[in-house]
Amino acid sequence: MHGTGRSAEEVRRRLVIGRQRAWLRWTLGSKRALDAGSAFLLLVGLSPLLAMLLVSCGGRLTRQARLGRWAEPFEMVSFDFEPKSVARRLGLHRLPVVVSILRGELSWIGPRALEPAELTAADREQWRRWDLRPGLLSLWWIRTRANNNYGTEWETDSEYGQDAGVWNDMGIVARAIPAALYGSGAAITEDEISVLGLRMDNLTMSEAVDWIGQRIRTRETAAIRFLNADCANRAWSDDGYRDVLNSAGLTLADGIGLKLAGQILGRPVRQNVNGTDLFPKLCARLAEGGHSLFLLGAKPGVAELVAAWAAENHKGIRIAGVRDGYFSAEQDEEVVRQISAASPDVLLVAFGAPRQDVWIAARAGRLGAGVAMGVGGLFDFYSGRIPRAPQWMRDMAVEWLYRFWQEPGRMWRRYFVGNFVFLLRVGLERLGRRPWEK
Ligand code: UDP
Repeated sequence: MHGTGRSAEEVRRRLVIGRQRAWLRWTLGSKRALDAGSAFLLLVGLSPLLAMLLVSCGGRLTRQARLGRWAEPFEMVSFDFEPKSVARRLGLHRLPVVVSILRGELSWIGPRALEPAELTAADREQWRRWDLRPGLLSLWWIRTRANNNYGTEWETDSEYGQDAGVWNDMGIVARAIPAALYGSGAAITEDEISVLGLRMDNLTMSEAVDWIGQRIRTRETAAIRFLNADCANRAWSDDGYRDVLNSAGLTLADGIGLKLAGQILGRPVRQNVNGTDLFPKLCARLAEGGHSLFLLGAKPGVAELVAAWAAENHKGIRIAGVRDGYFSAEQDEEVVRQISAASPDVLLVAFGAPRQDVWIAARAGRLGAGVAMGVGGLFDFYSGRIPRAPQWMRDMAVEWLYRFWQEPGRMWRRYFVGNFVFLLRVGLERLGRRPWEK
């Protein structure tokens, strides 16, 4: 007997760690091999063009300091063309970056290469981010384009680090195509914008959560509505619904349709602030302060499952009440009384649009709730009744395609006809037609 003193548990743990290390080496190794191989082929193939560009810019190169893997500094080289030259406008000045990829300072895909001054802002603790070579194309860039860039860039980098690898990178390349078409994110834009005569608050996800947090603290009542392309289409021919939407305390831009509308109208939308992504962030905020939530809507038993999800994942949240969304007109008064007796900080109503928003608006002042909002199919997602689109589809901003596939009979008109009609109307608004101002 050789008394190594290792318990079976210890041996198992070491085996797991060993396997994880081997996996990491393989992932990073294969990624590196692909980078180097493709950069080499590209350099050989492009060498005549590169030589021509070098001559045409008079041999002038610019060097920019960047941080590589483990924050190791390196220089990113580009051709020094005049700002207005054709080569510059086509982005050809950046081609020497392939050399950095060949040398292993950069990768095709990876977290953005930071400038040295940005190091203070980046979270140094995110070791997974720093363990990777920075890349030309990042997950954060894609999410910014799809208006799904919630949280911070460093968190997204860390997330990328969790499942970095060649296969994942190919997915990112595929996602980059729609991202490029959606256009840039919106850093500078107005705080309030309108699309087809509908007023919208141009907040980011975290600003929206702060807004709600503020109302809860001061116990102000307020209604929040999520505006998507389908709502806008309904409001087009329904003045009552239009007034309901425009009377909200806060109206948030939901979905890629609104982002595209913002681009077309030159009023960029900052972020896709939809109820389903907002919900867990809101629950976290409610849990912090021990605040309460009332869930009204969906089929019997569904709201209970959502309440259980919230209580399980956000300890400290109080469930003020639950009730399904299939009650008769005679029971309406009783439902209002149930809510007002519970006096929740936040009331979520999931009847689908437009009914949920009209219902809230008609009972404003009698619900005794702090913040009330219509959340559509949210309960079905969080109860697990209907699965939500996978993250990669959300990154491509095609969650709607997934919804269509789940319920084609009900959704084809909303998405395939509706989205098209919506963008057509936005195009008309761009041309100065405003038929809603009758
Ligand atoms: N619903 C309800 N009462 C009704 C009709 C519908 O509570 O009388 C619920 C339905 O069960 C579903 C939600 O409202 O959970 C509507 O979901 P949908 O996906 O249509 O909403 P959207 O997000 O499309 O507005």
